[in-house]
Amino acid sequence: MRSDVLDVVIAGGGPGGLSAALVLGRSLKHVLVIDEGKPRNGVTVKSHGFLTRDGSKPGDIRQIAQEQMAKYKNVSIIEDIIDDVVKENGLFTSTTRSGKKIISKKIIFSTGMKDHLPAILGLHDVYGKTVFHCPYCDGWERKNEPLAIFGNGKELFPFIKLIYNWSQDLIVFSNGPAIISDTEKKELEAHGIGLVETPIAEFQSNDGILEQIVLIDGDAISRKGGFMLTTGEKQSSMIPARLGIPINEQGQYETNEHGDTNIEGLFIIGDAKNTFTSIVGAASQGYETGVKINGEFAEEKWSD
Ligand SMILES: Cc1cc2nc3c(=O)[nH]c(=O)nc-3n(C[C@H](O)[C@H](O)[C@H](O)COP(=O)(O)OP(=O)(O)OC[C@H]3O[C@@H](n4cnc5c(N)ncnc54)[C@H](O)[C@@H]3O)c2cc1C
Repeated sequence: MRSDVLDVVIAGGGPGGLSAALVLGRSLKHVLVIDEGKPRNGVTVKSHGFLTRDGSKPGDIRQIAQEQMAKYKNVSIIEDIIDDVVKENGLFTSTTRSGKKIISKKIIFSTGMKDHLPAILGLHDVYGKTVFHCPYCDGWERKNEPLAIFGNGKELFPFIKLIYNWSQDLIVFSNGPAIISDTEKKELEAHGIGLVETPIAEFQSNDGILEQIVLIDGDAISRKGGFMLTTGEKQSSMIPARLGIPINEQGQYETNEHGDTNIEGLFIIGDAKNTFTSIVGAASQGYETGVKINGEFAEEKWSD
């Protein structure tokens, strides 16, 4: 085997990728993490729900992870973007934006998703500050507040019931005719939840704090925050798709249990696999996949 061949390249240095790097580093593997440095939660101020890190800034979690990783000299982390990957003779060659060509025996994609919010004036100012997607991440901070729910379609009603757990002062904005059944509409009424079908013109806010939602007919409805059913998320990297990994109806890469795929040696973890894994969930998948990969290397070493 050539000496310049790494054991594992990891595309993406979020919680999934860094967690895989840690377990592989501790397993004496030569690992390179290549990270563009644009995590999906970059818009938010604080992260919640990760034991020991509840309320931390997302950037701080990454920084601590990188600092702890520094002692594993067999693990390197660089800022770059993987633009292309080819598999030839059982090895992966990753080409980066800066022109590097890196060869590895295995590759993990923990490249996450990117949100593509609807083009409504003012939405970017409030998203990640007082308007969110995940109530487990940000519901506690918004508890009992007058909230808006944005969304439409068959997933809307279950989402409303979920958000009702944190606040009962809810108005649903379907941004067009609501696709919910008459029975569901009656249930909303019975729970004192308003339904606004008129399209939204603008989110008005002050320093990220939502103040009111202005409709195209000029009406303005006061709300302090809200939750969006979907954020228009799409895969950050289409490289696995180009290599032949299928994407399912939810926009997720199809993998087996431990992130392994129909291409031997190529693994996908985190949001790229499960859309919205959470920090602890992505870290857990990184750990699990790292263990799986090291197990495969251990088998090979034993048989050599
Ligand atoms: C607004 C918001 C708030 C959230 N709040 C919470 C919270 O409070 N608690 C919680 O647990 N979770 C929260 N999440 C969810 C959490 O951030 C994600 O589930 C988690 O970060 C997924 O980890 P990941 O490693 O899969 O991907 P990411 O963290 O998104 O990391 C992917 C990395 O890969 C890089 N990348 C992409 N393509 C390439 C490429 N071709 N080459 C190199 N690098 C590449 C990206 O730039 C990025 O740095 C929140 C998400 C959002 C959007």
